[in-house]
Amino acid sequence: MLLTIATTHRPATDLGFLLHKNTARAQAFDLPFGKVHIFYTEATEERCEAALLLDVDPVGLVRGGGGRRGLLADYVTDRPYVASSFMSVAIARVFGSALGGRSKERPELAATPLPLEATVSALPCRGGEAVVRRLFEPLGYGVRMRDRADAPAGGQDAAQNEPSRYRNLALEARLPLAELLTHLYVLIPVLDNDKHYWVGDAEVEKLVARGGDWLAAHPQRDFITRRYLKRRPTLTAEALRRLGDEGDAEEGGDADSSGEESGEESKQGTVAKDREQALEQPVRLNDQRMAAVVGALRDADAARVLDLGCGEGRLIKALLPVRQFQRIVGVDASVRSLEIAARRLKLARLPTAEQGRVELLHGALTYRDRRLQGYDAAAVVEVIEHLPPHRLRAFEQVLFRFAQPKTVVVTTPNREYNVLFPGLEAGRLRHPDHRFEWTRAEFADWAGRVAEAWRYTVAFGDVGAADAEHGAPTQMAVFRRCA
Ligand code: SAH
Repeated sequence: MLLTIATTHRPATDLGFLLHKNTARAQAFDLPFGKVHIFYTEATEERCEAALLLDVDPVGLVRGGGGRRGLLADYVTDRPYVASSFMSVAIARVFGSALGGRSKERPELAATPLPLEATVSALPCRGGEAVVRRLFEPLGYGVRMRDRADAPAGGQDAAQNEPSRYRNLALEARLPLAELLTHLYVLIPVLDNDKHYWVGDAEVEKLVARGGDWLAAHPQRDFITRRYLKRRPTLTAEALRRLGDEGDAEEGGDADSSGEESGEESKQGTVAKDREQALEQPVRLNDQRMAAVVGALRDADAARVLDLGCGEGRLIKALLPVRQFQRIVGVDASVRSLEIAARRLKLARLPTAEQGRVELLHGALTYRDRRLQGYDAAAVVEVIEHLPPHRLRAFEQVLFRFAQPKTVVVTTPNREYNVLFPGLEAGRLRHPDHRFEWTRAEFADWAGRVAEAWRYTVAFGDVGAADAEHGAPTQMAVFRRCA
């Protein structure tokens, strides 16, 4: 199996310092299941590509050695030829420092997002290409996949007349090298859905340590966790609990069969939403909010509009009747919400002429996503308060640095107003899922800082009747990109 990692960062040969592997010579390492060879296929100032060739020894695997039980029962197997958990072990063994984000010689570079390309040959893709995309795209990768040249056309396995599950995968992203390695380390065994060793508590530790931030916020978090832990329910529950505590616990669908979440979870979600709505009902705040956002988008002359964190499609419903909005794209991390949105908006029954006008995308807002580029405006309605504060920075970059719409409309609760909600205990937030609620000053600080950092101007508005002392229930900021 072959893994290649390349960069076009200048000087590209710094990749050697990041991987702690000299670009000038080939090296080989012995592992319990075979040999790993590291060499460079290219090492110039402009581009440098490292290759990790894993040569698994099937006979050794079956026999074991030194009193160890064999790792495989039968050496007539695909194991020596495909990217699997053996590859993850090899990555950890030979690129351990890089995987941990450490570099003696280039410490800053190790933390810097670099233009990276990776290829993995013969990746078993259980669930097909769609699953691969759902795993890598929310992390900001451009994904290309090829059927293997050694599989007959149409991707059929010669022996079993069924679609081949092996693909060559090419990824592209701008990330710190450690993130790329970590993603591969976790996701290769997830795609393979097989492990060559016993899965126990140590695997939970590994997953939480390696998954950290990115897995907690990944829309396929549950699916990845379940598969990584070989569907062992107690381990999966434990890992999810810890990921939830340590990061963002947004619900997400399942890459195999979206909407497979437990009824328990959905019930809780609905109760929470109901509570928030009941609280705000007297002012019919939601309608006022949608009207205010539609107004701001109209004033901005936006034709192509993103609704980020679109939820069940309430804003999209208000945008649809306005012809000015020629293209409306909703994005959310929750597959269940997107399904509800599609039903409510009757997307399946739109007249043909209208069909290209609306689209719903599954994605996480804390990872760079090329699909969000090229829009006039983005609305982010009652979403930022759902992001864990330490992920807010990532979201800012995704939106203001990379997607760069001309106009951005953000709404969020005004915490000062909470004392005026009769049903809300002092000090509580409006929704159990809110990570924070800001005062007007806090919101203004944040918005001012973001505008300055990414060359936008910002103006503020109220939504709902304002109280003289506590302000309006919802606060709104409208950002405009400087020319
Ligand atoms: N804008 C909608 C929904 C607000 S609720 C409305 O006003 O009705 C917040 C929404 O943000 C939820 O649908 C949730 O799934 C989504 N969300 C939270 N964190 C997210 C993330 N990291 N990426 C994408 N969507 C996210």
